[in-house]
Amino acid sequence: MSIINKFILTKQTIESLSSKSKLIVVCKKQSFEKILPLINHGHLDFGENKVQEAYIKWKDFIKDHGKINLHLLGHLQTNKVSQALEIFSFIHSLDSERLAIKLENEERKLEKKLKYFIQINLADEKNKSGISSHEALNFIDFCKNELNLNIIGLMCLPPIDVDPREYFIKLKEISISKKIEHLSMGMSQDYKIAINCGSTYVRVGSAIFN
Ligand SMILES: *Cc1c(COP(=O)(O)O)cnc(C)c1O
Repeated sequence: MSIINKFILTKQTIESLSSKSKLIVVCKKQSFEKILPLINHGHLDFGENKVQEAYIKWKDFIKDHGKINLHLLGHLQTNKVSQALEIFSFIHSLDSERLAIKLENEERKLEKKLKYFIQINLADEKNKSGISSHEALNFIDFCKNELNLNIIGLMCLPPIDVDPREYFIKLKEISISKKIEHLSMGMSQDYKIAINCGSTYVRVGSAIFN
């Protein structure tokens, strides 16, 4: 099946499950040749997980295509913040005070506002980004009350090889208790489950490109 057909099928599946869930096409490691048909079809939301790779790929294109929203899904190092602010509209990996403060400062300098998801490492896995589960509630309060960042949602990446449901439900509970609207959860393997648990942004790559 062609990329465009897999994209259309994925979109239909999402729409059949919820009118509130948006599809982010994760196109890391994909060439522009493969992405262009989706752009020409009218799709606007694309996800990347490395700042440097995305910057090289999108920097010129994005200047002339203001309607496209690039979503940063992977870890953001503080020394890449100004590059990230240049091309991305959404950052799904806000996970430390240091990063949050740096983003606020750079936003002010560049007179730019992005939309942010706070990433929570719900299972406290080593080698995984995200604020630890025991620090998450305080961090959310800090970002919402002490900073001038537009926090729209929470994001999680459940451990692999386990039933993701309990993590999706946990993230949903936190979003309700903190009055946060959006949930970035669900990938190719589990986006249907994620939508049933309240996801509003699913991040799908391999189901479309492979
Ligand atoms: C790669 C990636 C995805 C997409 O994963 P697929 O299994 O290819 O759908 C989603 N979220 C993040 C953070 C990723 O790095």
